[in-house]
Amino acid sequence: MTAVNLLDLDLAGLAAYCEGLGEKRFRATQLFRWVHQRGVSDSAQMSDLAKSFRDKLSVACEVRVPTVLSEQASADGTAKWLFDVGGGDAVETVFIPEDDRGTLCVSSQAGCAVGCRFCSTGHQGFSRNLSTAEIVGQLWFAEHHLRRRLHLPEGTRAITNVVMMGMGEPLQNYAALLPALRVMLDDHAYGLSRRRVTVSTSGVVPMIDRLRSDCPVALAVSLHAPNDALRNDLVPLNRKYPLAELLAACDRYLDAAPRDFITFEYCMLDGVNDSLEHAAQLVDLVQGRGVRAQPLACKFNLIPFNPFPESGLICSPRERVKIFASMLQEAGIVTTIRKTRGSDIDAACGQLAGEVQDRTRIAERRVGRSTIPILPLDAPQVRSVVTPSRERAV
Ligand code: SAH
Ligand code: SF4
Repeated sequence: MTAVNLLDLDLAGLAAYCEGLGEKRFRATQLFRWVHQRGVSDSAQMSDLAKSFRDKLSVACEVRVPTVLSEQASADGTAKWLFDVGGGDAVETVFIPEDDRGTLCVSSQAGCAVGCRFCSTGHQGFSRNLSTAEIVGQLWFAEHHLRRRLHLPEGTRAITNVVMMGMGEPLQNYAALLPALRVMLDDHAYGLSRRRVTVSTSGVVPMIDRLRSDCPVALAVSLHAPNDALRNDLVPLNRKYPLAELLAACDRYLDAAPRDFITFEYCMLDGVNDSLEHAAQLVDLVQGRGVRAQPLACKFNLIPFNPFPESGLICSPRERVKIFASMLQEAGIVTTIRKTRGSDIDAACGQLAGEVQDRTRIAERRVGRSTIPILPLDAPQVRSVVTPSRERAV
């Protein structure tokens, strides 16, 4: 019998599991706290649980995190881990510290079936869905690893925000995603507020509706084009769920949380989607002209394209990105340009490009091909994942 991985279970699942072991359901809360809040994986250390329960746990279950293949630290404090998820696949997780927050960018799939033209994960094709434990395991590992590295005082969190913007389309792995989100939000686990957990999607309309009713966390929609013809080309899923349907789903999403807004991500591609005409079309699209009847509460996040050779695309010049942003801003739309973080380790969240194919297909990995150092986990340099300012901020 294979041991149950406790990282696969949200609190309701854990309560049912404890009951199955002949324990009272409330014991699950204690166990959940040991695992997620204190990062303890060995039941022998769970001192307030009865010895008989600990003995059962030690044979029946475990806390199993994908193996960390490498850790890289950027001069700006960004850190990236590559996790082996078996079968020759690996996924990336990125930690981005800022003055007032620590954001973890989490992967949901090995590869991705959507196949967006500008995305290196999409170019790899789909390998498989991650399990809940593999999604939660990225957070469990990063949180407790960083706490130790940063010497954070008991009860202080390293990670204050999670964005599902790593590899894969989270809404095409909904069954595993939903319990993972519940663990992130649970006060007995990571206690993140719903607004501090973001699901980013290329637009899986029926699943946007499911998420709205099951767990309405912050929603980011990868738009990348202001009309169906261009979006069909850049984000093939648009052929199935065109813009009118996608924006209607965004409206419905906000009906459930009227004070929220949708973040639209827009990857800036030179000569492809970055003209003044495209900006004007975008304004019309979200402000109730064209396919929609009323304005949508939204923000735009313009992402400088992180190039990779197979795409045949290049990033818009900085000046054009600024002009594009100001056109949206002049129309009253809050617009930010994503800062490039961790560029020395190619780790900016959502920009899993460059040599990602080499790095994430372990079987094909050629050591020494990467231009960036891959540090062993205990290398002293790894301590630089924390900048002094981050230490002060937490
Ligand atoms: N599949 C989801 C989430 C993962 S991708 C989605 O598409 O939203 C996270 C973000 O990174 C998306 O907005 C995606 O469009 C963007 N992205 C992907 N490849 C990129 C690249 N090469 N440069 C810049 N942004 C990229
Ligand atoms: Fe998949 Fe998102 Fe990449 Fe598109 S951008 S291929 S949906 S991971």
